[in-house]
Amino acid sequence: MTNTVQPNRSNADCRAALTTAKRIVVKIGSRLIAESPAGRPAGIADQVVALQQSGHEVIVVSSGAIALGIRRLRLPARPTDLPGLQAAAAVGQSRLMQAWEHAFGAHDRAIGQVLLTHDDLGDRRRFLSARLTLRALLDQGVIPIINENDTVATDEIKFGDNDQLAALVCNLVSADLLVILTDVEGVRDATGVRMPVVFDIEREAAPVAGGSSKDGVGSGGMASKVSSARIVTRTGVPAVVAPGREPRVLIDICKGLDVGTLFVPGDSVLSSRKHWIAYGAKPAGKLIVDAGAVRAMVSQGKSLLPAGITAVEGDFDAGDTVSVYDDQAHEIARGLAAYGAGDLRKIQRLQSAAIEATLGFKSLDEAIHRDDLVVL
Ligand code: GLU
Repeated sequence: MTNTVQPNRSNADCRAALTTAKRIVVKIGSRLIAESPAGRPAGIADQVVALQQSGHEVIVVSSGAIALGIRRLRLPARPTDLPGLQAAAAVGQSRLMQAWEHAFGAHDRAIGQVLLTHDDLGDRRRFLSARLTLRALLDQGVIPIINENDTVATDEIKFGDNDQLAALVCNLVSADLLVILTDVEGVRDATGVRMPVVFDIEREAAPVAGGSSKDGVGSGGMASKVSSARIVTRTGVPAVVAPGREPRVLIDICKGLDVGTLFVPGDSVLSSRKHWIAYGAKPAGKLIVDAGAVRAMVSQGKSLLPAGITAVEGDFDAGDTVSVYDDQAHEIARGLAAYGAGDLRKIQRLQSAAIEATLGFKSLDEAIHRDDLVVL
């Protein structure tokens, strides 16, 4: 399933639809914070408060902890080792929150610091509990300021400057719009001209997004922004990659003006739960399947049966998220395994009727039930 092209809709129509967005996640990158550690949060806070006054709810995802920590510790360069990055994040996070506290304090608005790791969002119970916390904050008019919990994250610290976190937060809070503020005017096409609207991410944006960047201030780059747009548009939520230095950028986007690059959601929309299966949890293992199983899942929307599995990799329990690969090493789907890895190894290639005789029990005919399966 990919985003379908919607040739009949104009940029203006799609922009006008943004005016009805109530709950907005705004992500600010490290570079924007680092170039103006007090001024940038102040400018964003002015806009967020104006949006609140006109009935919007705003959740801020702010990077900048590592960048401000590097500055405070007077390091000559960005650390290359994980403990060094984590130490910088620990120092910088409190500075970052001071800046946000000051910016929103000027409007007498309370903020709440929320630090999340991908593991928090990958565990369904913790995901649901974080959702309740964020709802409680929003109900009280508090502006959540979210960052990745870099001091305890392991490989997570390498995620693209919170772009992916912001996309997952959109699903967490059921946002209507994601705005990723960056230091350029939007996604540029091959000739360097801003693309005002993208309907088909794979065809239009992915080829011009380039790779990821690590430049001493932040990490991420346009590719990671495009990949966040891919994640949110799959739940039917639009995303705008926009110039964070423009003083009215958030207001203008919510007015439906032509700012940045708008990613329009396609027709194939995932429920929040399926979205979480596809993007929230890190797969704990792999199932390699034959061509018949790929056809059944992709073209017919069917469950994955043990008979179609040719190999089981990794160590996972029933209920864990697993990736499904074809025999050419392409990831086809993700889903919740109905059996643990050990049991699946025993019943791979077997018809459903033979499951009970082999295992001594049977919970399901399927290895992944279609309700728990998302074709990518
Ligand atoms: N969460 C990190 C921060 O706030 C990400 C930025 C980076 O990788 O430099 O600093």
